[in-house]
Amino acid sequence: MIQAGNIRVLGAGITAHATALLLSQQGWRVQLSAPPQRHHDASVREIRAYAINHRSRATLSACGVWPAHDQAPWITPVRQMRVFGDTTGQLFLDPPSINPPQLTEPHDPVAWMVEVPALEDALLEACQSSDGIATDGVDSTRSTITTDLTVVCEGQTSTHEGFERHKITYPHRAIAARVRSSLPHAGVAQQWFDGERILALLPIGGATGSDLAVVWSVPTAEQQHWLANTSETGTVPLAAELTAQSRNTLGTLRMTAGPVGFPLSVGQVNRWFEGQTVLVGDAAHTIHPLAGQGLNLGLADVQTLADCLATRQRWEAASAPRLMRRYERQRRADTQALQWATHGLFHLFTNDLTRQTPMAWLRNTGLSAFNALPSLKRWAQQQAMGN
Ligand SMILES: Cc1cc2nc3c(=O)[nH]c(=O)nc-3n(C[C@H](O)[C@H](O)[C@H](O)COP(=O)(O)OP(=O)(O)OC[C@H]3O[C@@H](n4cnc5c(N)ncnc54)[C@H](O)[C@@H]3O)c2cc1C
Repeated sequence: MIQAGNIRVLGAGITAHATALLLSQQGWRVQLSAPPQRHHDASVREIRAYAINHRSRATLSACGVWPAHDQAPWITPVRQMRVFGDTTGQLFLDPPSINPPQLTEPHDPVAWMVEVPALEDALLEACQSSDGIATDGVDSTRSTITTDLTVVCEGQTSTHEGFERHKITYPHRAIAARVRSSLPHAGVAQQWFDGERILALLPIGGATGSDLAVVWSVPTAEQQHWLANTSETGTVPLAAELTAQSRNTLGTLRMTAGPVGFPLSVGQVNRWFEGQTVLVGDAAHTIHPLAGQGLNLGLADVQTLADCLATRQRWEAASAPRLMRRYERQRRADTQALQWATHGLFHLFTNDLTRQTPMAWLRNTGLSAFNALPSLKRWAQQQAMGN
């Protein structure tokens, strides 16, 4: 389909590049505005590894950056997810035996861990070699090109007139780091709720390795303690704490990079589009990383926006309210459902009241009961896979 107009995409992250690629494939002339000085600093960039679900993999394949048969050194298949409560509760998620149509193949993993710098580089390269995408490298506010639609992918610090962000800042912050374990990870992603902290150890470096990405959600004061302590006494005490928090499941952990701190919030903008401007990714919503879904939601935004624009009639503008409303309706509902589930889980395991014995018993029994119920478990599996 040949589209005639110009679309401006603001942002320097994964959703901005994916948006530019999908829309240029539809024939739009895309202006990608990404001021170089806004890139993350190197230590933050290098430490990031994200869980990518099946839906996101389909979008990244459509962008032309996902390798055939998932084969690349920056991709690690996750064959099982294990979640442990603070006492006996546990939930194991495997790929469903009955595959949902279109997205999965038999024997597909539950998800893939992806090294973010490698994915970002692949997307940047694809944009630079696309005839339909112009990158200006200047602040969007100074661009003079007339556009039919501006897609804002500037992340959670984005501010644009007419859009208001309603958010709750968690009393927690995330510590991200890299560790190597004395036992192989075997492609298993694991998460522990200990009553106050939530630790995830996520397999990277290939299916048979022992490198792991750490995402540890801790009370704000504790994060400050660990970041300050590490610069004074090195990473050994933090590695020992992570070994204890993970209940020695993977043997002894040794730090290989980090730690780096991130603020955590949940929220959404009051509206997803206004006039000729539409928001995508963290610019529109944030979520606690305990379910590893922030970018997956953002890539689902990108795909839905592209799908809505693909149904545009010749006489309609790219920013036609009919199209934008459909985009907002679909994405708001999907995002809210996951935000509520994640927010509920955070409070179920970290709130003061729930540390009392009856509540602790209830939530751990609940987690194990969930594990034993095939229909509920299948639902959770589908959510994790993004279906
Ligand atoms: C510890 C942690 C772990 C996470 N793990 C996962 C995971 O496993 N799976 C998952 O799906 N998600 C995960 N997330 C969430 C994920 O990081 C975000 O949802 C995702 O990065 C959002 O992508 P984005 O492109 O919308 O925004 P960003 O990644 O924030 O990118 C926005 C970009 O736009 C640039 N920019 C800002 N202003 C402008 C401007 N005016 N013009 C042009 N460019 C601008 C910024 O510099 C930035 O480069 C995690 C988050 C955290 C904190």
